[in-house]
Amino acid sequence: MPQEQSTPTGALTTTYEQLQELLMTAAREFKKPSAEEQAKLDKEKARREQAALESCIMAEEAEKQKQAVISACAAGGHKKENGRSAIQGQIHSDGKFHGICFHCQWEAPPVAMAPESFAGGIEYGGSSPFTFGSAPSAAA
Ligand SMILES: [Zn+2]
Repeated sequence: MPQEQSTPTGALTTTYEQLQELLMTAAREFKKPSAEEQAKLDKEKARREQAALESCIMAEEAEKQKQAVISACAAGGHKKENGRSAIQGQIHSDGKFHGICFHCQWEAPPVAMAPESFAGGIEYGGSSPFTFGSAPSAAA
């Protein structure tokens, strides 16, 4: 009858404590990025920073272009081809008219306005020139 029940000597000499230490070491090694992984992480970080910088520059560039379009449109008085105001909007809950130019998206400063002078509620100024209290483009 073979002695299958006996513990084979030398097969498992690692104690529980040794095994635990081994696992802890392995866990630490797993967490620590290798030089290659670190280089990859650094590269990824640099790429993200570059992308953020580029999107920042693009946003600035877009803002400059937007302002240039607004300036050009303001020089023409924010008018449609037929000479009427291109600024449309409505009276908000603050009782003021909030207009926006549909050519250049310029937001007119809110202006107090009697509802009866605001025919139809969508077009500001009509064929007559409109005036804004403090808008630089409306001074003329
Ligand atoms: Zn405009």
